Amino acid sequence: MQFSQIIGLEDIKQTLAGAIQHNHVAHAQLFLGKEGSGNLALAVAYATFLNCENKTPESTDSCGTCASCYKFNKLIHPDLHFIFPTSTTKQITKRDEAISSAFMKDWREFFIKNPYDSLKNWSSAFGGEGRQCMIPVEDGRNIIRSLALKSFEAEYKVLVIWLPELMNSNAANAILKILEEPPEKTVFLLVANSAENMLVTIQSRTQLVLIRPFGDEEIKTHLIEKMGVTAERASQVAMLADGNLNEAYRLLSETQNISQDSFRDWMRTCFRFDIPSMIKEADKFNELEKEAQKSLLQYGLNMLREAFAYRFGGENLVRADKQMMEFIKNFSKVIHENNVERLQEKLTTAFFHLERNANARILFLDLSLQIAGIFKQ
Ligand SMILES: [Zn+2]
Repeated sequence: MQFSQIIGLEDIKQTLAGAIQHNHVAHAQLFLGKEGSGNLALAVAYATFLNCENKTPESTDSCGTCASCYKFNKLIHPDLHFIFPTSTTKQITKRDEAISSAFMKDWREFFIKNPYDSLKNWSSAFGGEGRQCMIPVEDGRNIIRSLALKSFEAEYKVLVIWLPELMNSNAANAILKILEEPPEKTVFLLVANSAENMLVTIQSRTQLVLIRPFGDEEIKTHLIEKMGVTAERASQVAMLADGNLNEAYRLLSETQNISQDSFRDWMRTCFRFDIPSMIKEADKFNELEKEAQKSLLQYGLNMLREAFAYRFGGENLVRADKQMMEFIKNFSKVIHENNVERLQEKLTTAFFHLERNANARILFLDLSLQIAGIFKQ
């Protein structure tokens, strides 16, 4: 993970990079930030930069291409260790076997997919199904054993503890002991959402790095530039998310799911030239918030593009989850070079009129008839 891959937070990145440039690397640091903040992403980017083989006194970020960066980016570097909360699962039923090392593959996928994600989603990602998560003493013991070894190849061994507030007291005491007598060239990065339940003795042995929540503008820019969201919708989501990027993603996917189902049903209606259903659908779309109406059209434009790409290149050219892929496959049967442009034009024009406050009921019914007509040709 590089600093440049993390959204906004330029002020904090500068401070963190500065500490490395000036050789002020504290051996134990507490990255304290709320859920959905950049605390974990920043800790991993910091560790990556710390060990980058190409860093010079002028660099402000890891290079992303050296052997060390390559392994850090995939979280497979032998000197990068993780501890995180776990629980038993269907497969691992004994509590003392449900430790971080048993879930590394899930952890890597989870982090790489969304480094701002929550404990709740982590639990479903590894199969904990909402059981209470914690860091057991076995994790603490394990880590002490692996840290006692010399580093394999990196300048610094790094241990990242995600949510140390969920260590049970024996685990906390084991970690405390190692913080008191730290092995050489080892950096401990504790990444917490709250310091309330952490041993005061642990807090006092770590340097506090406060990670502020993302700003509305930072989230908004990210949604527009990286997620293709309209400016209006991005502002709305950013405001509701209140600095929690993970919540912003959740809010977005909520509207996406609505669009997905609605668009699929709507296209079926058009394909059948089923006018009574078209009228019903226009009524239904009329009830939606304007942003949802626009997001439906936007979604339709994306699907047209994907279905057309599918026709020529199959699944390789298409970015979609399983359910969406199923729809794209079917949709691609009726999308071809003789109608794709006209369909795009109809949706784009409708989008334009919606933005200018056209009557949504009439607009959607008219659009349905036009699309149905194009399908029929
Ligand atoms: Zn590098």
